[in-house]
Amino acid sequence: MTDLPVRTEKKLGLLIDLDICVGCHACAVACKEWNDGGQFGPLTDEDPYGAEPMGVWFNRVHSYTVDPAVPQESGHCGASSPPAGPAGRLGLSLHFPRSCLHCEQAACVTVCPTGASYKRAEDGIVLVDYDRCIGCKLCSWACPYGAREYDQAQGVMKKCTLCVDRIYNESLPEADRQPACVLACPTGARAFGDFADPSSVVSTRSAGRDPQALMPELGYEPTNRYLPPRPRRDQTPEAKADDTLNPAELPTVLRWLDRMLSR
Ligand code: SF4
Ligand code: SF4
Ligand code: SF4
Repeated sequence: MTDLPVRTEKKLGLLIDLDICVGCHACAVACKEWNDGGQFGPLTDEDPYGAEPMGVWFNRVHSYTVDPAVPQESGHCGASSPPAGPAGRLGLSLHFPRSCLHCEQAACVTVCPTGASYKRAEDGIVLVDYDRCIGCKLCSWACPYGAREYDQAQGVMKKCTLCVDRIYNESLPEADRQPACVLACPTGARAFGDFADPSSVVSTRSAGRDPQALMPELGYEPTNRYLPPRPRRDQTPEAKADDTLNPAELPTVLRWLDRMLSR
């Protein structure tokens, strides 16, 4: 079994603003592109140009529609507009990017029998040493967020590295020393930084927005945080007439997401 550091100097992670994520998948594609060629690649692709391409993705984006009044757990994928909810109002489209959350209490590390999974004391990043990994998959069973990806071809476990081979790479211009997903995001929904530093971009952007950890009740203490969607204006003619916000109707989106991910 592998020990976690008692404390980490930094808590590097991602802040994802669900209010402005448009579900474009640019982050997922940029992640795949960088990790296909970077220090931790190549990611395995099977039949990449065939009818049924398969491969390893570290970053996935899930899209859902939630009715503002009654949570509708209907998947919404590729439709031009979200379906109307039972109250006749348009549903809220919610796009939810998912990758490793670089947990403080990462059970994926403590279950690892070989020491291949580890959390770095200097910055909190959780990594896998492929030379030590025996492909037993215990870490993927331990991770409640589905963040581990087994590489069938190499027989080792892989996952988001927070682009550790970009963020410390001094041959890159300083502005480019960011995870590939953050650089690719066209809406600025993603930010990278040190959650232990109150002056970092992730801390200052979180101020006043009630940043949420995913499934905190499990005790993994994820480092990454999600900013929940702001309440939408009601689009019914009656509501438009007085044009008021009704935040009480917004479902607890992240609790709902927890249920979806727990299936
Ligand atoms: S999200 Fe999963 S893989 Fe990543 S640190 Fe947490 S438990 Fe481990
Ligand atoms: S698959 Fe590899 S990293 Fe995961 S628990 Fe087994 S040895 Fe450790
Ligand atoms: S690139 Fe940005 S806007 Fe597009 S899916 Fe990813 S987080 Fe959302």
